[in-house]
Amino acid sequence: LSKIGVLTSGGDAPGMNAAVRAVVRKCVYENIKVTGIIKGYQGLVNGDFLPLNAGSVSGILKDGGTMLKSARCPEFRTPEGRATAYENFKKQKLDGLVVIGGDGTFTGANIFGREYNIPIIGVPGTIDNDLFGTDLTIGYDTALNTVVDAVDKIRDTATAHSRLFFIEVMGRDAGFIALNAGVASGAEVVLLPEKKTSYDDLKRFLEKQYSYSKDSSIVLVAEGKKMGNTFEIAQRVNEEHPEYDARVTILGHLQRGGSPTVADRVLASELGVAAVEALIDDQKSIMVGMVDGEIVHVPFNQALKNKKGINERLFNLINVLSGGKK
Ligand code: ADP
Repeated sequence: LSKIGVLTSGGDAPGMNAAVRAVVRKCVYENIKVTGIIKGYQGLVNGDFLPLNAGSVSGILKDGGTMLKSARCPEFRTPEGRATAYENFKKQKLDGLVVIGGDGTFTGANIFGREYNIPIIGVPGTIDNDLFGTDLTIGYDTALNTVVDAVDKIRDTATAHSRLFFIEVMGRDAGFIALNAGVASGAEVVLLPEKKTSYDDLKRFLEKQYSYSKDSSIVLVAEGKKMGNTFEIAQRVNEEHPEYDARVTILGHLQRGGSPTVADRVLASELGVAAVEALIDDQKSIMVGMVDGEIVHVPFNQALKNKKGINERLFNLINVLSGGKK
């Protein structure tokens, strides 16, 4: 192995920089040349490369975002686009790739790697934590802390004004952020893509809570919940229960930013190094992950085919801890 490329792709996540740094420093340590690829697969298609050395990644460990930039690249979904990407891969004399991203990024890597027999290792970087085969993904812990900080602040005003807040968090297909931030912030109800909570269920939960002297509540809502548009839910609640004084806050992209937490920095450092080690060991088409504190190698096919389930125990806790009786 004499030269590899590294890129960040898809939705950005805090800790991607820490992972890039780990990849580069491990390459320096092993005397392997490394080049950054700008804007994910777009840079591979466009031939946009940035040679990296130990100094290029100084100071980025603590920064959110990604110094390599990220993008969604429609050309890479076509055989022609990937053929151009392969031309550039060869021109750069690369022997392998480390791709940092989510399931879309790994889907592309899986196709490209098999098409041209290229060793590609995936590093799970997504705030959603929705990758099978790893307990945690890079960026998830930071996003949770950001959400809990925001919910705490909304809780202050919800309590002061006796209001019901619907707070929408990211998670189109997975409720990990809503559920875990819900437990950590004392949310009274969570609405998740994995659970078919009906409007009547929600109404019953709320009526129960308001019946025992609660006069403010937080409902944490994952983007991909089954019940529909968050504003419409709140509007319907207000029509039927004007006394709840329901409001909506969409946290949005602030969840993607900020300096990574200690947990994310450590995870990114470990997985970045593990990805280069996997390339040195002639591995291909796998994701490096962390399960019970140990590094694991998960074939892309497995990581992509399976869906990580939510923790039912935590889901049940929400109801137990909301203050009412069984
Ligand atoms: P994430 O990695 O966060 O899930 P995306 O779903 O946007 O983000 O995927 C990132 C990129 O991976 C896409 O913009 C595209 O270039 C590439 N990709 C995703 N799915 C495929 C596919 N089926 N074939 C080829 N490339 C893909």
